Parts: sequence; structure tokens; C-alpha cells
Amino acid sequence: MTKFSDLALDPRVLQAVADAGYETPTPIQAQAIPHALQGKDVLGIAQTGTGKTASFTLPMITMLANGRARARMPRSLVLCPTRELAAQVAENFDTYTKHLNLTKALLIGGVAFGEQDKLIDRGVDVLIATPGRLLDHFERGKLLLTGVQIMVVDEADRMLDMGFIPDIERIFQLTPFTRQTLFFSATMAPEIERITNAFLHNPARIEIARQATASETIEQRLITITPESRDRAFAEKRAVLRELIRAEGEGCTNAIIFCNRKMDVDVVAKSLKAHGFNAAPIHGDLEQSVRTKTLDGFRDGSVQLLVASDVAARGLDIPSVSHVFNFDVPTHPEDYVHRIGRTGRAGRLGKAFTIATPNDAKYVSAIENLVKRPIPAGEAPAYEASADRGGDSRRRRGPERERTERDRRTPRGEHRSRPIVPHDQVAAMEPLPVAEPVVVEELHSTPAPAPARAERSDRAEPRKERRGEDRRPDDRRDRRRHEPRDDERVVGMGDHMPDFLTRSFALSHKD
Ligand code: AMP
Repeated sequence: MTKFSDLALDPRVLQAVADAGYETPTPIQAQAIPHALQGKDVLGIAQTGTGKTASFTLPMITMLANGRARARMPRSLVLCPTRELAAQVAENFDTYTKHLNLTKALLIGGVAFGEQDKLIDRGVDVLIATPGRLLDHFERGKLLLTGVQIMVVDEADRMLDMGFIPDIERIFQLTPFTRQTLFFSATMAPEIERITNAFLHNPARIEIARQATASETIEQRLITITPESRDRAFAEKRAVLRELIRAEGEGCTNAIIFCNRKMDVDVVAKSLKAHGFNAAPIHGDLEQSVRTKTLDGFRDGSVQLLVASDVAARGLDIPSVSHVFNFDVPTHPEDYVHRIGRTGRAGRLGKAFTIATPNDAKYVSAIENLVKRPIPAGEAPAYEASADRGGDSRRRRGPERERTERDRRTPRGEHRSRPIVPHDQVAAMEPLPVAEPVVVEELHSTPAPAPARAERSDRAEPRKERRGEDRRPDDRRDRRRHEPRDDERVVGMGDHMPDFLTRSFALSHKD
């Protein structure tokens, strides 16, 4: 098995890794680091939880260890889809650069420009940014990207979901053609493939097995209810959620509740609070200071239930939770894998409940096809779909009250769950693979043509509207700044590193 000391990392980086308590490199680290240290482009197909952040930060620090940054010309750039992820990457840099003198700046929305400008003016070795904020700085003439020697794109598939791909392309074109690119994505959608073909040069392609599909320690249940009507679905799902949490009792030490829409995240959190639960929402429309406070609370246990959107929760380094509740069935099957992977880590048991209605059948099938096994049906708890004090008024109008009366007369246990996949199909499904093979291949494709260098006319182009959660109208107005305290940082998995991360893997070299 590869050891960190085999990886030709700077001794000061090795020391920091040892201080962090890491014993062995994870597969993505063992494979990506040597290529990165040779100056090669890397295409890492891996998701959060595989140790991918260190797979690019450790070689970057080693390569940047000698050399000095010039004013307004960062030597390296890391692009992340969300502020939380960017802040987490920045924390990783702090951890691994503790024995070196490298400087970094974090450019994220919701933080004052002034402070960020000062840091860039002084010169930074590492610039960690969300794409929108980076381009804002660039357009204000405060930043030059022509000194970037190493560029990282993290969670590219999430960038795609958030509409950041045009920004990423533009940023690629503003950096030197000779830069080294380390590119990470959990999936390879055609659009991602296109970008990598255009901007990566003969990359080492490293693919790591999906994480959550390999976990046998997650007990999954599909709770299907048939609401009285479409209008009632939201309120009835809230009632079911409450009963599910109550039924788990003290076994539910902490949980993430996923909703598909930001709007629902707020309502569900409010509703839970109104019913006496300790819950808080997290999504991209909340102010950065609120998001940080909520996450800190969840990490230290003062918040028990985190109600989240996929984007806000993606990539967050949160210690394992006892439960995941999918308030909605995710419409992208990969999100199911990401969501439930938040529990059942490090060999501990975790539970993942998914609340579904018959309308979700096609999404449930998509998930079951992806994970190659049915989600076992669980019994829906008896619930009273009473008027929900936390819900929005639109959903609580008129009919809800009438039905509340009717619901009270509904015999307990009448709302039963039922499997969406017919049993004959379920039986035909493959059992869950324990670990998928890991494929490492070097692409010997012809180097892509040089992307056009930035022209003045390019800079003058009006900015395209961005859709992502990072882009908010109040970005420029929010003057608050958060510096996480040392004792707030969550670093490393320590003894929580799941077994599969250290497992050996098969290599296949394709020409
Ligand atoms: P990531 O996939 O980069 O989000 O990393 C997931 C977690 O694994 C983070 O808490 C890292 O600090 C931790 N981690 C990364 N590499 C290792 C390693 N080699 N051994 C133990 N923990 C690690």
C-alpha cells in the first residue's frame, strides 16, 4: 500500500499531513498526487468524502513551496461551486501549509470586497474562489490571472448544475495556456467532457468508485404515502417526517433533512421548529454569516436537524450523522447517493429514510437503477396531517382546516407505504456491489488547441446572468466577514476514515 512518504511531497507538507492524523493516502491521493507533482493535468472523477481535496492541495503546496507571489497576480487558483466548499478548501490549505509560509485569499460572495482586495494587492500564492466573485474582482481590474501556474476546478458537475460553465470557460481563457489543470467532477456529463477536452492537455484520468453505493452500513427505507390531493402532499409529508423522527427517538442524534427546493427548506425547518424540534435551514439564499453559524451549530451538536438543499450540503465536511431524511425524492439519482452517504460512515450504522408519493415513481426507479438494488419499502408511520404552524400561509388556507378534521377521524396506520417497484422487478435486480473497480488511465489524446487568450473585447463583454446559489443580488452589500476560529475547524476523518478508502484497487492502463 502506498504511504504518504512514497509520494515525493515536501517534507513540511508530510509533517502537516502527519499532524492531521492521516496514516495512508486514499486511492485518489495515491493516484493523483504523483501525476500532479510531475506537472501533468489531472482529471479526477471522484466525489466528496474520497479525500479529493488533499489530492490537489498537497501537490499544489509542494509545487508552490519555493517561489514568491507578485502583487495582484496569484500563482494558483482553485474554483469551487459554493462558498462553503471554497471556505473548506481554504481550511484545508491552512492545515497543510502550517509549516510553510504560503499566502492565500478566499474570494467568495457575501464577504466585503475591500478586505479581499487588500489580500490580493499584497500577492497571494493560492487564490480560492467561487467563479462569480472571481470574475467580479477581475472586472473591477483588481486581479490578473496571467500568473496562474496551477488551476483547480473542484466539483465541476455542480458548477454545471449551477450554470457556472460559461464562467469557467472564460476563466480558463484568462489564465495562461501553459498552466497545469487539476479538474474534479463526480460525474462526466457531456458538457463536462466537452470542457475537459477543450482545456485539459493529455490528462491523467483517475476514476474512483462511488462512495455511498459501497456502504452496507446504511439502512435505507422508502416511505411511500398517498396524499389526499396534490395540494395536501407538502403538509402530509411534513407530518410523516415528524413521525419518522419521533419514532427514531434518541437513536436520531443528528440528521440532515434534504429538500429539492430552497423554498421548501425554509418551510420545513420552520415547521419542525414550530413543532418543538431543534432544526435550522441551510441554503444559498441565506446570508453567509447565518450559514456559517448554522453549520458550526450542527457540528458542535447545538443544532440537531439540518434542513438542507443539495447544493448547500454538497461537499460540506460534516461528521457522520445518524440519520438522513429525504423529504423529497431527489430528481437526479446521483444526489440520492450523495445524500445517504452522509450517514453510515466508518462502519457505523446509519439510517436513510426517503419520503415518496406515487408521483415520484420515475425518480425512485432512476435511483434504483443507479444503485442496482431496490430501496426497501418501510411502513409509513400513522400521522395526523394537522394544520402545520410552520408552513407558509398559501399552503395552509381553507381546505387544510377542513381536512384536518377529516384526518383526525382517519384511523391510525391507514396511510401505508408501498413499494413503487413491482416485486418481480425487484427480485431481478442485482445485489449492491461492495466496491466498484477503480480505473486509472492516461489519455494520450492529441493536445487540445490553445484556447484563445483574453482580449480586451472579452473583458468588455457584458456579464452573463448566472443562476447559481453563489450569485446573489446582495453579494456586494454584505460587509460581514467570517474567519473560522481554530477550535471550530473540522479537519480530517481521523479514526473515522471508512475502510473502503484504504482498500486496494485494480489498475487498467488504456492507451
Ligand atoms: P474530501 O473528500 O476532500 O472532502 O475529504 C473528506 C474527509 O477526509 C476530510 O475530512 C479530510 O480531512 C479527510 N481525509 C482526507 N484524506 C485523508 C486521509 N488520507 N486519511 C484520513 N482522512 C483523510
